[in-house]
Amino acid sequence: MARYTGAVCRLCRREGKKLFLKGERCYSDKCSVSRREYAPGQHGQGRKKISEYGIQLRSKQMAKRYYGVLESQFSKYFEMAERKAGMTGENLLRILESRLDNVIYSAGFASSRAEAKQLILHNHFTLNGRKVNISSILVKPGDVIELKSNSKSSEKFKAIVENFASRPTPMWMNVDKDTMTIKIERLCNRDEVELEIEEHLIVELYSK
Ligand code: SF4
Repeated sequence: MARYTGAVCRLCRREGKKLFLKGERCYSDKCSVSRREYAPGQHGQGRKKISEYGIQLRSKQMAKRYYGVLESQFSKYFEMAERKAGMTGENLLRILESRLDNVIYSAGFASSRAEAKQLILHNHFTLNGRKVNISSILVKPGDVIELKSNSKSSEKFKAIVENFASRPTPMWMNVDKDTMTIKIERLCNRDEVELEIEEHLIVELYSK
């Protein structure tokens, strides 16, 4: 499975925005975006002018980084979004929100999407009662995701859930932190996406 292995905080600094890629650190004053509000690298503080194409590209990069998706998978999601009825940009965000790793992170069962990916890969969850180890699976209304019973007693999960207990969970899922179960009630609405993004810029980029 291909994945980004570079310095994670640089990605946020490049986008000039907190992308919440590192769990607890992102909520602390150690966050690099809070401490250094300029792009990384030698010319980071000098980069000011950005072309229309550059703005569109940055929007795509930001979405990819936020959801932890690589280029080829992102292009496939875009094609899928185009084929669906409705606004392509909104469809794209809804698809990204429906990824199993995003669902587990949003429910508060992982401290970051990257950690959610790892937990799924290590078989800690079931989807509708069956083993699942693919983080890119797209959930649908009615799906039930559950922490496997032998993982429920793990101190690691207890600590994660305690640390993130105050984080609000999205309205489109029903999260039971006692049984460590998530039920998908419906798909995510556009106004429930936390990422501040103008998705039409991504659509414009792919339309070139
Ligand atoms: Fe690093 Fe998290 Fe801050 Fe991003 S939001 S810069 S990943 S600490």
